[in-house]
Amino acid sequence: MQDLTQTQPTTFPDSAARLGQAGAANYPGLDAWRSLPISQQPSWQDEGVYQASVKELSALPPLVFAGEVDVLRERLAQAAQGKAFLLQGGDCAETFDAATADRISARVRTILQMAVVLTYGASLPVIKMGRMAGQFAKPRSSNDETRDGVTLPAYRGDMVNGYDFTPESRGHDASRLVKAYHTSASTLNLIRAFTQGGFADLRLVHHWNKGFTQNPAHARYESLAAEIDRAIRFMEACGSDFEALKRTEFFASHEALLLDYERALTRIDSRTGNPYATSGHFLWIGERTRQLDSAHVDFLSRVRNPIGVKLGPTTTGDDALRLIDKLDPNREPGRLTFITRMGAENIRQKLPALVQKVTDSGAQVLWVTDPMHGNTVTSPNGYKTRRFDDVIDEVRGFFEVHQGLGTFPGGMHVEMTGDDVAECLGGADPVDEEAFLTRYESVCDPRLNHMQSLEMAFLVSGALSQ
Ligand code: PEP
Ligand code: MN
Repeated sequence: MQDLTQTQPTTFPDSAARLGQAGAANYPGLDAWRSLPISQQPSWQDEGVYQASVKELSALPPLVFAGEVDVLRERLAQAAQGKAFLLQGGDCAETFDAATADRISARVRTILQMAVVLTYGASLPVIKMGRMAGQFAKPRSSNDETRDGVTLPAYRGDMVNGYDFTPESRGHDASRLVKAYHTSASTLNLIRAFTQGGFADLRLVHHWNKGFTQNPAHARYESLAAEIDRAIRFMEACGSDFEALKRTEFFASHEALLLDYERALTRIDSRTGNPYATSGHFLWIGERTRQLDSAHVDFLSRVRNPIGVKLGPTTTGDDALRLIDKLDPNREPGRLTFITRMGAENIRQKLPALVQKVTDSGAQVLWVTDPMHGNTVTSPNGYKTRRFDDVIDEVRGFFEVHQGLGTFPGGMHVEMTGDDVAECLGGADPVDEEAFLTRYESVCDPRLNHMQSLEMAFLVSGALSQ
């Protein structure tokens, strides 16, 4: 921001430097990742397009602002201390085509609906975070995909290539980096409008939830819904300021996979002189890129954003401690979130030692469960899916482990959508395999649909209030 107290007019290049355009270019250490081992990066097919795209991104405005990022760090610090709960949800992979008003609003609405139910159950503020407005790049376990004897590069997210199974679409096209930026900007714009413009009105959100319990399949959740209804009427009777409850904070997050993109959108905050990744408020490192000496860990250690790391079932206590040393050397609550994705069958056995070791070290991380990625199976008819019951079982295991250790189960990271898709099996109004043939839409991992997401919120809310 230009300093308005200055008497001399600031020259344009000078103020650009203070906004970090030039400053970030020379900031010490921000490019150290370039000489470290890096995995899961694209092989761009045209060097010229790649150079031009990175240059263009480096000059574009930030998508999020340092002050907002700081607010989120404070909110997450509250969660790390047991005073708030994080709800993080959205697509496995967003697509450019699905960045429509209807789909974005359905997803935001579902997250807000889940949050009301969870707030009631936890009697705590719920931090609402979309896996949205930037979740366009995917790590893959294989570089190639073969269909009917034809082999092409695997789909790596709309930021890298197209889903269509043709050589043209599957080539790695760096101009998609810029399209990802603009799609994130328009998604974020709509999210900001919804959550600041009255769409988040508590009474309206509660009214939407009534639709869920009116479905006879959800009769078992009626008493909890009635309790929430009474609580809201009580608030009304007490004269609560519902005007203030028309707006809500909502944060954006994605996996920081493509470091060229993240680096180009890193800016130096003019207030503090610190670097911030401005592609999203919260960034996480995936299970496949969290090696201690990797480029990903190095780069994210150097930005001020709150960051997450996914931890799968092979994570050792030492891995966790060394990640803390590197990513949160000052032991700052809110800085580091561990998102565990152990699988329902492993969580009760593997999580306790990890949590114990971290707790004994004196570090205060935020523990979040991702009950999706350890529970992926292939259905007999060939679809990547997850069973609703396994997902819920992992969440329950997560709560049990933390209750047993006296630590705080601080949040939930879910792949979900606001649409009526059929991708995960089960739920009270069950999705079966047959439904995959007509309602399976995900280009990557299976998501809970609107109803399954709400059902999860009701189940978890019940567990939180015990
Ligand atoms: C994901 O979140 O989509 C993902 C790939 O997760 P993980 O890194 O935990 O495998
Ligand atoms: Mn996924």
